[in-house]
Parts: sequence; C-alpha cells; structure tokens
Amino acid sequence: MFVCTGFAAQSAKEPLAPFTFNRRDVGETDVRIDILFCGVCHSDIHYARNEWRFTTYPACPGHEIVGKVAEVGSKVRKFKVGDTVGVGCMVDSCRKCSACQAGLEQYCDGMIGTYGAVEPVIGGPTHGGYSNAIVVDQDFVLRMPEGMDLSTSAPLLCAGITLYSPLRHWKAGPGKKVGIVGLGGLGHMGVKIANAMGAHTVLFTTSPSKVADAKRLGAKEVVLSNNAEDMAKHASSFDLIIDTVAATHDLAPLFALLKQDTTLVQVGVPEHPLEVAMFSLVPKRRAFAGSMIGGIAETQEMLDFCAKHKITADVEIIPIQKINEAYERMLKSDVKYRFTIDMASLKSASAA
Ligand code: NAP
Ligand code: ZN
Ligand code: ZN
Repeated sequence: MFVCTGFAAQSAKEPLAPFTFNRRDVGETDVRIDILFCGVCHSDIHYARNEWRFTTYPACPGHEIVGKVAEVGSKVRKFKVGDTVGVGCMVDSCRKCSACQAGLEQYCDGMIGTYGAVEPVIGGPTHGGYSNAIVVDQDFVLRMPEGMDLSTSAPLLCAGITLYSPLRHWKAGPGKKVGIVGLGGLGHMGVKIANAMGAHTVLFTTSPSKVADAKRLGAKEVVLSNNAEDMAKHASSFDLIIDTVAATHDLAPLFALLKQDTTLVQVGVPEHPLEVAMFSLVPKRRAFAGSMIGGIAETQEMLDFCAKHKITADVEIIPIQKINEAYERMLKSDVKYRFTIDMASLKSASAA
C-alpha cells in the first residue's frame, strides 16, 4: 500500500476536506496514474451528500480523471510510464458475464465504480479522482488522444460518454431531431456531440442566460422549457430526447415533444423519483429508457470521435480548495459548463 492525499466528505452534512488514505500497490496488470485534472460531476454531489442512500464514508469522489502513467505492473502491455491517460466511472468488472463480453462493462453486476465500491485488494471504499494518484487495471484505463488539452478533456470521461453512448444507441445523426434537456456538464457535451453527429440538435433550458451559449456550442434551436407556448411549437416532433436534469422536474411536457415510437432517455439521476403521467407516454407508443455511461471500448471510441471533431468541455478550472463552493454553484445551475480541478493545488491543500 502507499499513501495518497485527497479531499473527502466524512458525512453527508460535512463539506469536503483534506484526507489521507491508502491505495493498493501496483499489481501485475495495474497502472499507477499521477492525477493532473479531475472534472466535477453532479454525481459527485449526489454521492458526497448521500442523496442516493448508498454512500460509504469517507467519500472521496471524482470520476473524470486525466493524468500521467507513473508506474506499470510487470504484465502491463497497453501503457508505459509517461503516457497520458484517462479513467472514468469504472475501475474493473467481472470480465465474464454477457454484459462484459458485449463490451457493456457498465451494466455488469460486478462492475467496480471508481468511487464508492469495495476496493478488491485492500478493502474499504474505492476512492475517486479528487486525489493525487490512482491505481487501475490497464483494461479500465483510456488512452487520451494525442494533443488533446487535458483540463478540458477530463469531463469527456463521464459527461462525454454518458451522452455519446445513448446518442449512438438511439441512432442520432443526419435527418434526426434530437433534444438535449439541461445545459450543465452533461448537457453541453450532448449538444456538442449530437451536433457533430449531424443531428438537428435542440437544447431545452430553464436558464435564459444560457441561450446564446447553447447556440455557440452547436444547438440549432434553444427552447425555454418552462415556456409552455414555446414548448407547444415542438409537439410530437422529436426522434430522441436525452434528459440530463439533476433535480426533480416534470417529464410530461418532454414526452409531449416525442414523435410516435421514439424515446425519452433519462441520464440525470435526481435524488427523488420522477413521476410519469401515463397519458403523456402511452398514446404514441413512446418509450422511456435509462442509460448509464458507456463501455470501455465505446469510451475510447468517444475520445477518438471527440479528438477528430475537436470537441472538449468548456471548463472553469478550480483549485481543490474551492470544491465546496463549486458544489453550491452547480446546485444553482451556475457553471459554464464544467468545473475541473487542477490537482496541482492539492499540494498546498495537504500542507495546510
Ligand atoms: P449539472 O452540471 O449540475 O447540470 C444539470 C443541469 O440541469 C443544470 O445545468 C440545469 O440546466 C438543469 N437543471 C437543474 N435544476 C433543474 C430543475 N429544477 N429543473 C430543470 N432543469 C434543471 O449536472 P451534470 O453533471 O450534468 O449531471 C446531471 C445529472 O446526470 C446528475 O443527476 C448526475 O448524477 C447524472 N449523471 C448520470 C450519469 C449516467 O451515467 N446516467 C452520468 C453522469 C451524471 P439549465 O440551466 O440549462 O436548465
Ligand atoms: Zn459523472
Ligand atoms: Zn461482468
């Protein structure tokens, strides 16, 4: 084992604070990564505050990790010291089940989350990327495309793949009208990626101040979702809608936008259950689906797609000392459009 430093919450009610913990030594197929940047996902807030009711404390979040390989195990062939790599929401899976065989490790019952799972070698909770280093099996490490900026590409590891996967699965592309609901971390990646896939991309927002940005990011149209008149203009016209909203909200006006036989995909995971009014779902044989991140091969495909289309996140870089303030701002939808922690700031934090 070796000692790491990071930031963690000790309970649902406490702010994140400096934290020291052990990670396993590098095993035969492991890679040790010195973390350079880590994106701040709304899931980190849900988790740190136990909103999903399965948090294990101390909780050290972070699953949009980029860094440099510092050490590799004796059987590692995919990476070498000095490579620039990424880690997303998973650090391992069972490798044997049908989901794993199909490259859908995110749906494996034995999937090990980057944080909040059980660390298989040393026990205790897995700790995420709000820390100086991480040890991950080579098969769950992503190669960052050459030349990609690191602070702005960290959010691809969760926000990017969470939108890329359903956009591909439900066949977003030319001739398709695709709605993205919410312009936060996930939503702004969705707008960029759906637009790059060639879909007619429409952004739904509750924030009038984000309209111009949404267009700059690639939305062909922007609709204020709490304006019933504007919403009505789009009735029964969408081929696919992806809802990224992190809070309780009304789904009925969104279902009303779908054509016959099309799908509303929920990727936002609010603390409380969402109501589905059956008369908004049943009449046009509409479907309501969930989707969770993407498999490892698909995540690599997404990174390469983003490199080709010059897509990264719009970020505000923060020192880790500002993490609690960043959480409060995200809860007010006040982030343009992802916070990324510069992990160099950890050195001064741990000295404090
Ligand atoms: P975020 O950056 O905070 O963005 C959420 C956006 O939702 C806000 O920017 C806001 O957009 C909109 N919103 C917030 N409150 C709202 C309300 N009361 N009514 C309507 N819209 C509201 O969050 P994120 O990091 O993108 O994450 C979004 C959600 O996805 C979280 O629940 C997170 O846990 C979940 N998530 C799921 C997966 C998965 O695999 N399924 C992966 C990552 C994250 P506007 O200002 O434009 O309205
Ligand atoms: Zn996430
Ligand atoms: Zn499996």
